[in-house]
Amino acid sequence: MFQDLINLFYPNICQICDTELHKNQNVLCTSCINELPITNFHLDNENPVRKVFYGRVPIENATSLLVFKKKGSVQKLIHRLKYRGHREIGSYIGAWIGAELAKINSYKDIDIVIPVPLHKKKLEARGFNQVEGFGQEIAKALNILYIDDVLLKTSFSTTQTLKTRLARWGNTEESFVLFNSEKIKNKHILLVDDLITTGATLEACADVLLEAENVKISIVTMAFTA
Ligand SMILES: [Zn+2]
Repeated sequence: MFQDLINLFYPNICQICDTELHKNQNVLCTSCINELPITNFHLDNENPVRKVFYGRVPIENATSLLVFKKKGSVQKLIHRLKYRGHREIGSYIGAWIGAELAKINSYKDIDIVIPVPLHKKKLEARGFNQVEGFGQEIAKALNILYIDDVLLKTSFSTTQTLKTRLARWGNTEESFVLFNSEKIKNKHILLVDDLITTGATLEACADVLLEAENVKISIVTMAFTA
């Protein structure tokens, strides 16, 4: 009854085609699920996402659930997640890929999930990190911890140390810093983000995480730009 009342004001609609969903459906309708561009990259570790990092930074496993195309359904989903506050979209995609990864041996020794952080100002403006629900659901599926106080994003230009780091990364304007590095010592980390395009952001994050002692890194994103 209470749910019926909520649905009256906020109809439960498919986040791609906007048709009303049945009571047992969540986020997407059956036909939109069937039409989603799924990569299945997780079934092959030598996949295009992992290849992005070849010769740049050592990555154990890497995958994305979906293919991102301009004006496509995945772009719509990510836009609604980031700019319209539909946080359930991130959780939905995370639960999906999490269930897939839980079946794969090479993902079984992962210890923690860490999100690519947002800068504090952006976090305040948006109110949430769009990767949070995604990462938390993956952590739940793999029965491991989600940790968001280790890797932080800083504005560039504040300190001399940061300038040195920027110089090292060259073409990326983003800079990240490591806190509580003892929390990730000897851990296999799953670094998660919404979208991978050039891989520059994830590479910068991986570089910083690898400053901790005996760390291995894998990467999962919601979508991959083909
Ligand atoms: Zn639909």
